[in-house]
Amino acid sequence: MVGGGILGLAVAREILGRHPDADLTLLEAEDRLCAHQTSHSSGVIHAGVYYEPGSLKARLCTEGAVELTAYCRSKGIPFDRNGKLVVATEAGDLARLDRLEQRARANGVPGLARVGPEVITTIEPAARGIAALHSPHTAVVDFSWVGDALAADIERSGGSIHLATPVVDADPESDGLAIQTGRGSLRAERAVFCGGLQADRLARLTGGDTEPRIVPIRGSYLKIRPDRAALVRGNIYPVPDPELPFLGAHLTRGHDGSVLIGPTAMLVAARDGYELSTVRMDDLRDTALWPGTWRLIRRFPGATANEVLHSISPRLLVREARRLVPDLRPGDVEPGPAGIRAQALGRDGKLIDDFLIEKTGPALHVRNAPSPAATSSLALARLIADEIT
Ligand SMILES: Cc1cc2nc3c(=O)[nH]c(=O)nc-3n(C[C@H](O)[C@H](O)[C@H](O)COP(=O)(O)OP(=O)(O)OC[C@H]3O[C@@H](n4cnc5c(N)ncnc54)[C@H](O)[C@@H]3O)c2cc1C
Repeated sequence: MVGGGILGLAVAREILGRHPDADLTLLEAEDRLCAHQTSHSSGVIHAGVYYEPGSLKARLCTEGAVELTAYCRSKGIPFDRNGKLVVATEAGDLARLDRLEQRARANGVPGLARVGPEVITTIEPAARGIAALHSPHTAVVDFSWVGDALAADIERSGGSIHLATPVVDADPESDGLAIQTGRGSLRAERAVFCGGLQADRLARLTGGDTEPRIVPIRGSYLKIRPDRAALVRGNIYPVPDPELPFLGAHLTRGHDGSVLIGPTAMLVAARDGYELSTVRMDDLRDTALWPGTWRLIRRFPGATANEVLHSISPRLLVREARRLVPDLRPGDVEPGPAGIRAQALGRDGKLIDDFLIEKTGPALHVRNAPSPAATSSLALARLIADEIT
């Protein structure tokens, strides 16, 4: 196994559950687990509202959410089923809300209800809208706590986890793979790569397709000051633009009671660009030389500019959030965290929407696992284990 984010850990646990005698080693580049996307997400256990019926995302999110909450219960990991409202604030949103409702119903989102303005304010007293979808089963959790519990399961089942062990090369051989790491080499009969932001580079090591490429898309958040956090009880989302791949800046009350606004979506110059000032020449070169990057920007010039503005101006992001919660003021927020999405992008400028898995001989690569892959991790792990074993 390569990659100690929630997905790599879930796959390792699933394989050991099926094959207790397997000699399983998990290699993680960082000196701690879940160091990247998994610990920098919104922490929402999505109920499956958004995804195209029939897609892997649709199936594995609804299944995964049920499995994940059951897993959290069994391990005593706190989560809060605080629900979600997707709020239409103007008449122009209604047709898109209708389409979203059809999708959510096709996906079997549990407890879904269409509600009007009065019910919106019963659920979220500070929110305003003309109609909304309410998903009462949406929950929040700290995905890295889930990662820690999965790691404990792996070690209890005899697997070994090596931190600070980056894979630097992997050569397919007649009977397996020769893997070079920063701390020595090993042989593996089979290997699953869940490398997140490095997924495309890892796939190329074993002869995988040269596309899609990963582009790092930074999502930054603002945090509502604790004395104003009562403005939001659960999760309040706008109606997303179906042309765009992200859900729009939303308000999320985390399991610890803190409320975040975001995330924004801005292409950055480093795959670990948690600080906007971080530039890595190899990452910048890979993104800038990829024709898909420029085609993407040309397809969405307005949205690209908007996201840059929201990323650098808290005032504008608050203005966006005030469409959902009008009482929110610029003085109510402080700087929040940021995460980097590993988003696969085709040469044609299209963002790969669904989860994408590629098998090359003894190696299986997860090439695209954006949101809701954390929610879906236990279900996606079953699918991957079916493929590799
Ligand atoms: C801002 C943001 C908000 C999000 N919100 C949500 C949400 O609310 N709900 C949801 O379900 N999902 C959400 N997601 C998506 C979710 O976080 C990811 O889909 C999920 O964490 C993917 O898990 P992963 O294990 O594939 O990737 P990661 O957590 O990124 O793990 C990949 C691991 O591979 C390791 N690695 C990379 N290269 C090597 C190498 N050469 N050798 C060894 N190890 C290597 C990395 O160090 C890393 O630990 C969000 C993501 C972001 C960025």
